[in-house]
Amino acid sequence: MFVWIFTAICMFSLPLTAGTALQRLMDGNQRYVNDALQHPNRTSERREALASKQAPFAVIVGCSDSRVSPEILFDQGLGDLFVVRVAGNVIGSIELDSIDYAALVLKSSVILVLGHESCGAVEAVLQGNTAGMESIARLIYPAIEAEKKEKTHNLLDSCVKKNAQNMKEYLMKTSILKKLVAEGKLEIRAAYYDLQTGKVELL
Ligand SMILES: [Zn+2]
Repeated sequence: MFVWIFTAICMFSLPLTAGTALQRLMDGNQRYVNDALQHPNRTSERREALASKQAPFAVIVGCSDSRVSPEILFDQGLGDLFVVRVAGNVIGSIELDSIDYAALVLKSSVILVLGHESCGAVEAVLQGNTAGMESIARLIYPAIEAEKKEKTHNLLDSCVKKNAQNMKEYLMKTSILKKLVAEGKLEIRAAYYDLQTGKVELL
């Protein structure tokens, strides 16, 4: 009983600062890279304490790609991350509603838009093979247009990074999130995940 109450108090106290939330993500990613996973917050106490309320400290907007699972690569557990996953980690009106909910109601203090190496969705748009994924392609296209003008070494990589940054810039302009950022309650970042090393790099 004591453990349960203590866990509940720890979980639902004031939201983390954005800096602390971001550090918690990056620390978890470092454990993942080092094969030193702690698998936090997966006990029955945690599960029971979460049954009536959640307070995820971070929102991850990631790709549906099976190799980029946020809870694994950030070494987090139940109730830690509010995850929005869609091919190409794009943000349309439906995704934005979910993100707004997490930031405004659940008081997550950081939003990370996570692109990744060899993203099939971005590659498809780059190659013009967008049959069956037009809605997603439309959102990725501006990154392709911008990067094609640059003489970059790895065009796919730079398009993935530009796409994540574009999504971040878009979020920064939306009414609810813009206000939370201005009040110092929220930070929005873009990041890139390396499939080989497992490392997340903030952009
Ligand atoms: Zn992808």
